[in-house]
Amino acid sequence: MPISEVEKIWMDGELVDWADAKIHVLSHALHYGSGVFEGIRAYETARGPAVWHLDEHLKRLYRSAKLYHLDIPFSADAITDGVKELIRANGLNACYIRPLVIRGYGEMGVNPLNAPVSVIIAVWPWGAYLGEDALEQGVRIKISSWRRNGQNSLPSAAKATGQYINGVLAKIESLNAGYDEALMLNEQGFITDGSGENVFIVRGGVLVTPFTQAGCLDGITRSSVMAIARDLGYEVREENLIRSDLYNADECFFTGTAAEITPIREVDDRVVGEGHRGPITKELQGAFFSATKGETERYADWLAYVN
Ligand code: PMP
Repeated sequence: MPISEVEKIWMDGELVDWADAKIHVLSHALHYGSGVFEGIRAYETARGPAVWHLDEHLKRLYRSAKLYHLDIPFSADAITDGVKELIRANGLNACYIRPLVIRGYGEMGVNPLNAPVSVIIAVWPWGAYLGEDALEQGVRIKISSWRRNGQNSLPSAAKATGQYINGVLAKIESLNAGYDEALMLNEQGFITDGSGENVFIVRGGVLVTPFTQAGCLDGITRSSVMAIARDLGYEVREENLIRSDLYNADECFFTGTAAEITPIREVDDRVVGEGHRGPITKELQGAFFSATKGETERYADWLAYVN
């Protein structure tokens, strides 16, 4: 998806022009994938732009960094201020936010420990990740022939740049086969997540999603949707799911910062439920988007106002 450029990018505490936000070609992260990042959204509210779960996303960024012995040279408060300053400087009401921490230029070789660390924050307007129609019509997905990297190969708790090459294989395979997105199994054959989304099914009015231990990212949208669903009175369970659980589900949907809540209408050419967005998916979307707009008192502390 093309990026809509804005004016400024935050680099190590300074606002620089979009076109000048550059790194050296011999940066460690470019060669060895030794970076960590986050994907966050800011939503338009009656009180101006507000960042959804900013604290949770930054906590996950520091957890990802810890897994790779990466010391982030800025405090979470400084990054929080940077995110807000950048949204204001670019005059955005709603946007996607990409904090990135990379091992930079200085040394070559796999050992990353002597490379300097840089922190970058970029923001840009970003619509529905899986297409404008997807939130209503749903997407068609394929179970990938590529397995999700095992927990003892690359820890799924970390959102590290290099780990995404696993999802890149699955995503390309699914697009080439004519689907919108891929879903990966772990080595035991249990469902994990999409290339950038967690997955849920609805079965007999109960919501079920894989355990994070299956090898999926501990998604922040996943947690929000679990909380919202319980508050609406639904039972929510974490279980190991197999592919036929998806084929036979009443409803199925993805969650993610970029994908928000996207219905899944087909899995491996099997129509899920009625073949369109199901009633519980629709109800959850309604509650989710009210919360992101700051309209739900109960979830007021999930938003960090920019102004
Ligand atoms: N799984 C993967 C592999 C992801 O990249 C993402 C996006 N960060 C998710 C799940 C969803 O996580 P979140 O809701 O925190 O964006």
